[in-house]
Amino acid sequence: MDPYTAAAPPTDEWEMEIDAIESPPPPPLLKEPPKIRRLDESVVNRIAAGEVIQRPVSAIKELVENSLDANSTSINVVVKDGGLKLIQVSDDGHGIRYEDLPILCERHTTSKLSTFEDLQSIKSMGFRGEALASMTYVAHVTVTTITKGQLHGYRVSYRDGIMENEPKACAAVKGTQIMVENLFYNMAARRKTLQNSADDYTKIVDLLSRFSIHHTNLSFSCRKHGAARADVHTVATSSSLDAIRSVYGVSVARNLMKVEASDDDPSSSIFEMNGFISNASYSAKKITMVLYINDRLVECSALKRAIEVVYAATLPKASKPFIYMTIMLPPEHVDVNVHPTKREVSLLNQEIIVGKIQSAVESKLRKSNETRTFQEQTMELLSSSPLVTRKDSHSSPSLPVSTGSRSQKVPVQKMVRTDSSDPAGRLHSYLDAKPLGEQESRNSLTAVSRSSVRQRRNNPTEAADLTSIQLLIREIDSNSHCGLLDIVRDCTYVGMADDVYALLQHNTRLYLANVVNLSKELMYQQVLRRFAHFNGIQLSDPTPLQELIILALREEDLDPDSNENDDLKKKIAEMNTDLLKQKAEMLDECFCIHIDQDGNLGRLPVILDQYTPDMDRVPEFVLCLGNDVDWEEEKSCFQAVSAALGNFYAMHPPLLPNPSGDGLQFYQKSKPAGNPSDRESEHNSITHGFSFKSMNFEGNDKEMGDDIDEELLSEAKSAWAQREWSIQHVLFPAMRLFLKPPASMATNGTFVQVASLEKLYKIFERC
Ligand code: ADP
Ligand code: MG
Repeated sequence: MDPYTAAAPPTDEWEMEIDAIESPPPPPLLKEPPKIRRLDESVVNRIAAGEVIQRPVSAIKELVENSLDANSTSINVVVKDGGLKLIQVSDDGHGIRYEDLPILCERHTTSKLSTFEDLQSIKSMGFRGEALASMTYVAHVTVTTITKGQLHGYRVSYRDGIMENEPKACAAVKGTQIMVENLFYNMAARRKTLQNSADDYTKIVDLLSRFSIHHTNLSFSCRKHGAARADVHTVATSSSLDAIRSVYGVSVARNLMKVEASDDDPSSSIFEMNGFISNASYSAKKITMVLYINDRLVECSALKRAIEVVYAATLPKASKPFIYMTIMLPPEHVDVNVHPTKREVSLLNQEIIVGKIQSAVESKLRKSNETRTFQEQTMELLSSSPLVTRKDSHSSPSLPVSTGSRSQKVPVQKMVRTDSSDPAGRLHSYLDAKPLGEQESRNSLTAVSRSSVRQRRNNPTEAADLTSIQLLIREIDSNSHCGLLDIVRDCTYVGMADDVYALLQHNTRLYLANVVNLSKELMYQQVLRRFAHFNGIQLSDPTPLQELIILALREEDLDPDSNENDDLKKKIAEMNTDLLKQKAEMLDECFCIHIDQDGNLGRLPVILDQYTPDMDRVPEFVLCLGNDVDWEEEKSCFQAVSAALGNFYAMHPPLLPNPSGDGLQFYQKSKPAGNPSDRESEHNSITHGFSFKSMNFEGNDKEMGDDIDEELLSEAKSAWAQREWSIQHVLFPAMRLFLKPPASMATNGTFVQVASLEKLYKIFERC
């Protein structure tokens, strides 16, 4: 059945309605309908002109585009009174034929288009033949032009589309000069509003800047009438980046990165995009988006919005981006004729193209975000106080606050535990050389000096290193688990469920995630990504590797206090120190691990900003460097060093037992029955600093009774609070941005789904 018939109302009703309308006599017409008249052509033209030439900058855009269409290599603009008094655009293009001058400024006269179909493949900027005509309806236009091979040029003025006089022969330089005077002289309202706005010249300069960064083989200038200096002045350069540097400044050019995307699948989209986008260090209040589609300067609000969203979502500080982007499409996929000034175009498969460009921008930006944090860290480190003594840290423990404010003090657990006088072998006290009295000497600390910042140096080995690093990064990317990546990107941190597992929510599901595994992997990946680009954590005094290694070897012993095999340990330590000294240059250049000529460790890399590793783990790390790295093969060497750093920087539970819950017993000065060393090994394998403490406490049992060791307790509380703060404010945000979770994490217990909210609700409903 014909759908239209079906949709039509039944005939009876129609008839009824007609009856109803016809029955009362029509009311007498109070007023004659106004007569329709044909508008005077000059009025039509002026109305249309006002649409094409909305303000001085639109006239300049049309004129410059005409010059571009005329194959010019140099385009110069002079403006007086924001363009209202005078606009003059001169070029060195092919000029205009003498015989065309009479119709040059008539509406719809053009040399660029003859049939409608031509529009499908149009390459020129103009095609409507309206611009010059429009200008003559709202201003006084004078054209001076000369074509190739002529001895002289011609000058002629136009008004309302027609020549005011016969073209006059005149001297002329190659090309065309068009002068537009007294713009909107016959549109009082427009002129008034424009006179009051001072920003038209700014718009003009902005427009010329946009042209000049794309048409790099041309020279452009723009100046105010009578001014000696041009406000835009570019010469033909080899690259857009050079042009951007000269037009927008070094600070913009320095912060740009190249971006590309393309597709040539006819079933989805065909396009090629190239351009530059600002990185995470660039900061601006307003977006600058210079977009060329098929060499046409246009706007595309959908694309602009899509990119703005990416910047807002990826960068912690919402800086607006600078974008210069060119998109090339088959001409038949672009409709250039949707706007009288051709400002907007519409694209075939616009959504797909915008989506693809958006993801290209996003992935580029994510990578650059590392660079930003790297630079930000530089400033932070410089402003933080370099040394905090143990006394200070105890009189005002630097408990992190969860408001997200940045604690400038070095938290207790970030300091190196040292004791030069300790026969059992603590790290040396390099800060406090003299024993300070019993309490202090047990735990005198060397603060980590964070004052030193290592700027990136030119690394001669960089080119060679890159391939192995790139391979390792590629392995991370290809091994990444999509489902886990989704969880990591969008999860919400709920809290710590125990010492190792954090509770996270992703959509309606709850997961337990092992923060030690996660942070270890994240640190490993970040080491590779920051390879050779680290800031440094300077240790306040260099620490001898040899002692660190001996210490670590003792930790491995079943009985850490026996002196058994001490000579052997010494020998191993010596050999490892020699080995690491040989590798010092590479370790420094690539990983910012500085070992001086005497075999002292002096500097470690910053892997995540605002995070310093637990210095109690330095010995283990150094031993691991000496023992576990295969120095022969580049790729596996880099991988092993990165893994060792990853393990060292991972957010392990602090060595002091968690004071909330059962761990509290540990802080009682009178220990409950049982062998203290059993307790130690229960908590952690490397509790060197604390087995010593507990032994000492035991010696004092009789006098001290059952008191809590407040000092130690507050240190432990601070350590645990600091760790939780770091997990929430450092690990999780960094993880969302950077972590590519390996597939193994789906099965090795790193992620465990504990509940789905839907199921929980069902259970509650039954209750
Ligand atoms: P359109 O650019 O759409 O063709 P315009 O009104 O802008 O229409 O220009 C009309 C014609 O005048 C153009 O087609 C071109 O042939 C000629 N013309 C305008 N400006 C120039 C110029 N600077 N150099 C050479 N030819 C020009
Ligand atoms: Mg034109």
